[in-house]
Order: sequence, then C-alpha cells, then structure tokens
Amino acid sequence: MATAAQLQVKPGKLFIGGKWVDAASGKTFPTVNPATGETITVLAEGDERDASAAVEAAFTAFHSGPWPEMSASDRGRILWKIGDLVDKYNEELGTLETLDNGKPIFESRQVDMPMVAEVFRYYAGWATKIHGETVPVKGPFLNYTLREPLGVVAAIVPWNFPLLLASWKVAPALAAGNTVVLKPASWTPLTALRLAEICQEAGVPDGVVNVITGPGATLGKALVKHPKVAKVAITGETRTGQEILRDSAETLKRVTLELGGKSPNIVFADADLDAAVRGATIGIFYGKGEVCAAGSRLFVEKKIHDDFMHKLVDRAKKVQPGDPLDPKTRFGALVSERQMQTVLGYIEKGKAEGAKLVAGGERSSFGNGKGCFVQPTIFDGVRNDMTIAREEIFGPVLAAIEFGEMDEAIRLANETQYGLAAAVWTRDIGKAHRVARNLQAGTVWINTYNNYDTAAAFGGYKMSGYGRELGMHALEHYTQIKSVWVNLA
Ligand code: NAD
Repeated sequence: MATAAQLQVKPGKLFIGGKWVDAASGKTFPTVNPATGETITVLAEGDERDASAAVEAAFTAFHSGPWPEMSASDRGRILWKIGDLVDKYNEELGTLETLDNGKPIFESRQVDMPMVAEVFRYYAGWATKIHGETVPVKGPFLNYTLREPLGVVAAIVPWNFPLLLASWKVAPALAAGNTVVLKPASWTPLTALRLAEICQEAGVPDGVVNVITGPGATLGKALVKHPKVAKVAITGETRTGQEILRDSAETLKRVTLELGGKSPNIVFADADLDAAVRGATIGIFYGKGEVCAAGSRLFVEKKIHDDFMHKLVDRAKKVQPGDPLDPKTRFGALVSERQMQTVLGYIEKGKAEGAKLVAGGERSSFGNGKGCFVQPTIFDGVRNDMTIAREEIFGPVLAAIEFGEMDEAIRLANETQYGLAAAVWTRDIGKAHRVARNLQAGTVWINTYNNYDTAAAFGGYKMSGYGRELGMHALEHYTQIKSVWVNLA
C-alpha cells in the first residue's frame, strides 16, 4: 500500500504564509485509514495561536503584496492552473482521499477529483466576470457599484467529501479576490494539505491560501471568533452551524452554512420502477450514505410497496463492502470507528422502535476485521416519527415509509427540520413539477438522484443552512457591494 511519504504529505506541519511550520504547541495527532485501522501519518494539532498566525498571514496577503494588485484575469489563470494540477495529480490525490476517508478509489479518482478540477476551472472563468453596475439615480450624479472581495475567508470543511467541499469554498473565494484559511476535518485532512502545495505550484502568492489542522472545538472556534476573519463558510452538522453562528455574532461575520439533511425520496406507483430502484440505491448507498443529501427517507406509494421493496432489497444485497483501493469496489469503509458506532447505534434504535429490518443491519467482517465496514441497511415499515426517520444518521441506513396519496407524501416529506434535497419519481410530468414545487428543499431531483454540477447552485432550506455554493450564486457570498456617488454638476 502507498505510504504517506510516497504520497508527498508533509507529516505534522501546517501551511501558513507559504511555509510549512510546526504547530505552536508542537503537538501532533494521527490520521487513520478506516479500512484497516492503520495510522497513515501524523498531523499538526493547531490551536488558537496557529489560527491567529494563519489569519494574520491571510490578512497581510489580502491588504498588501501581489494578491490585491493582481488583475482578475491573472487570478483566473492561476485558478485554471490549480484545476489542471488537480487533474495532473489525480491518482495521488484520489489515493490520499481514499486512504483517509475509506471511500472507493473509483469515487475519489473518477468523481471527486475531476469535479474539484472543474470547480477551480469554473470559477477561473468567473474571475473576470465579477463586476458592478451603473445605476440610474436622480439628479446630476453618477452612481456605480464596485463588487469587492470581503477579506479573509475561513473555510471549514467536513470529512465526507474533503477536497471537493474545500474546493466549493476556496475556488469562489479566490476568484473574487479574497484570501483563505482552510481548516479540514481532523479525520480527513490530507488532500487539503496537498492542495496547499498545489496552490503554491500554480502561482498563488504566499499567504493567500493557508491550511491548518486541528480540532474544530478549539482551532475552528478560534477562526470563527477572530476579528480579522470577514467570512466563515462551513459545511458540517447543524449543531456546529448553530455554534458557529453564536460565535460569529460578536464580530458580525458573514456566514454561509451548508448543514445536515434527511432528504426524502418519493416513489409514485407510475414511476419507472427499475430506474427508481437504482436511484434509491444510489441515493442512500453512494458514498456509504455519508452524503449530506443522501436519500435517507424513502417514501413508497402503497400500491407498489411490496414489489418495489422486494426489488430494492435484492439490489441492496448486491452492494457489498470491498477494499476501497480496489478500482472495482463501489462501497467502502465508514470514515472512522466513532462514526461506525454512531451508525450501528441508530440501527439498534431502529430495531428497538419497531422498524422492520429487511437488509443488512450489522458491521461487516470484510478485510482484516479492523475496518469500519457496515452492511447496506434497509428498514421497512418506518414511521416518520421514529428516530431513524428524524435524525441524520450519515451512514448506509435507509428508512422506508409507505404513503397513500400525493398530498400525504408531500406532507410527510416536509415533516422534518431539514431541507437540503429531495427527489420524486413519476412518469406524470404535472405531478412531478407539482411535487417539486411543494417540497421544502434546496435541491429537488425528478427521476434522478445525486446529480451535481459546478454551475448548479447547492444549499439548504430550513435547518440545512443558508447561502448557496456552486454556480454564480456562490459568488454573492464572497463579495460585497460598494456604492460610489460622483457629483456631475
Ligand atoms: P462537523 O460539524 O463535526 O465538522 C465540520 C467541520 O467543522 C470540521 O472541520 C470540524 O472540525 C469543524 N468544527 C466543529 N466544531 C466547530 C466549531 N465550534 N467551530 C468551528 N469549527 C468547528 O461535521 P462532520 O462530522 O465533519 O461532517 C458531517 C456533517 O456535514 C453532516 O451533518 C453532513 O450533513 C454535513 N454536510 C453538509 C453538506 C452540505 O452541503 N449541506 C455537505 C457535506 C456534509
């Protein structure tokens, strides 16, 4: 197996001001391969002092030096280069992601990394298209707007799509002329550290991108409270988002929140059932179910319930855990022992509350026995008020719920604190759009699931957060408008 040394990760260092430095405390912590239980390498355990050093470096880079002077087209060129380098290092980055996260190498190399590259290239194109307007004001005046960057952006990312979700923040932030302190999740920091070097190789000036590792509760919190951080972009759990909002209130930071989900996937009797079975399987088992938009609540119309569930269970049984580094594997290891225990705990709760276990339900013995593998699991006969239908499990556990009428499906689907994504399967075009309009979710898929594109905005309704990532909408969250008045008299 590839070692961290072969993979060019600098063990135990932070990337601040263009240099690799030790954490102020000198402490380190291990990152573990969840498929084997082996330590991959050690990381620097940053604290408040390191957060401060990174913010100062980013602040200086924002206010002086080459970054504020650089033309938008030069910034765009650098972003494009980052995208190309991500492609060039696809194999290495994909391997790092898989070692750290447990996701199949197929996903890391053929889905995550190509999209990371595309995100940088997409926002490279935007760099020259961020501009103000002239406004037809009354009187002998010219009024125009300047769309300006905010300053230092703290990008705080989770462990499920480590580099991808970092790119969703870093790329638009840089395109708009901000500087960045990136804090990856402690379970999966390796690709973010490698991105720091890639940015440097692409020509990003020192201090513009800083990457620091350490606990969210101390290092992350220090970033959020730091007065020189202008904006926090966080993807994480809803309760983390709430804490970040409280902590950022004192300095009135701009905050965008991409939080949890419990997304409904509604299958009507008139749907293409084979396609819907495939969609339901991908909806919950892609990415081991550690996907914020996972279709974790499946609503099946009564008329087709038995037939549909039969097909779904058959298909789920074919999804088997495998070695994440094997290109044929489609279902990997959960990210950590702790996450696995959380998921297994929810499975026990589902059984205890009376849901009917129809597939999986246990830890898988695949591999050396130390891997965090859980079988693809399906509960039938679930009620919307059961814990497994209300709380985000963030694992390969599906809760199937029967419904009778369209209105009932919509009501049940919306009966959740979350509103990240939803899907509807039907051949009736009118019904599809009616349901889409009535679902309280930031993304609705019709006769498909888990589609993403750099140009399509993504984000939550309700307690799944606010603000949008991707597309042109993300740029609004990384810029502010200055109104300039000129006396023409
Ligand atoms: P998490 O909330 O535990 O951590 C996310 C990041 O925030 C980590 O880097 C963590 O260190 C940091 N953090 C934690 N507490 C902090 C604090 N007080 N101040 C500052 N930073 C802090 O989430 P996770 O377990 O890494 O990721 C899983 C969660 O992310 C799930 O809830 C999932 O739904 C959500 N998610 C949402 C989206 C989306 O786009 N909406 C996408 C992926 C994941």
